[in-house]
Amino acid sequence: MSTEPEPIIYVNGEFVRQSEARISVLDHAVLYGDGVFDTVVAWNGAIFELDAHVDRFFRSLAAVSLVSPVERGALVKLLGEAIARNGLHNAYVKWIATRGSNGTPLMDPKDCVPNLIIIARPYIHRFDETRRSQGIRLKTAAIRRPPGHVLDAHVKSLNYLNLVMAKLEAKAAGADEALLLDVHGRVCEAPGYNVFVLHGRQLKTPRRDILEGITRSTVMDIARQRGLEVEACDLELYHAYTSDELMLCSTAGGILSAVEIDGRRIASGVPGPVFQQIDQDYKTLLASGERSTQIVA
Ligand code: PMP
Repeated sequence: MSTEPEPIIYVNGEFVRQSEARISVLDHAVLYGDGVFDTVVAWNGAIFELDAHVDRFFRSLAAVSLVSPVERGALVKLLGEAIARNGLHNAYVKWIATRGSNGTPLMDPKDCVPNLIIIARPYIHRFDETRRSQGIRLKTAAIRRPPGHVLDAHVKSLNYLNLVMAKLEAKAAGADEALLLDVHGRVCEAPGYNVFVLHGRQLKTPRRDILEGITRSTVMDIARQRGLEVEACDLELYHAYTSDELMLCSTAGGILSAVEIDGRRIASGVPGPVFQQIDQDYKTLLASGERSTQIVA
């Protein structure tokens, strides 16, 4: 039996043991993936880019016509409390607002009351040390990222099936992660990551049908400070195949180097110097607390 203490989850106004955390099976999050979320990391009790994440959460809510179950200040306090109650300092924290339930299994939002769930866990890496140091292998998914007028990728919604299918496809093919294109063949993002391609001193990232990641914007800042030319633009698969370096980034996953895509080696097949530099700068920035908000004593 595990000796780890049971995680404490916030749900509907209470902090409870994970095994006791409940929402209705008729919640529209369960029935339709109807809800939004966001994810932050905390280092030494300080949340990196807290305001940017909370702003994005409120934009996601507005976009799907949901009202936050709690106000901004209360939400921030609860995030801190979720970290503290789990005895954490370096944490991964995910919070979710669901549409709620009106007691029927019908797609009628009338009388639904949103639920708020907060999950705080010790920081864990999605990939093991070997993959992080040697780089990961990508596979372009046959399934495409939907255009914004079908399902808007700017919204961090609970509707992740498109990304989940891409991930399954990549895993079935023996790759580590999927790369999704849009319906026109332009590079979009990976399941849970934004993408960068490097050609010489030019670092480019897709500009549409993506979640505008907070790590993406941090990487853009770091790269500019390092004298790279940085641009958000349309990118074809060709640009990924011919890149000198290919990177993925996210709050929960950090920065990853991709060294293979669709069986093609990227440049020399090892994580490149620009990745090494940006990754180092990013870790230094996280540890410095410079863009972080202390919310746990
Ligand atoms: N794209 C998608 C689809 C994501 O789910 C995530 C993770 N939140 C990202 C990109 C990266 O965003 P961030 O850097 O804000 O974590």
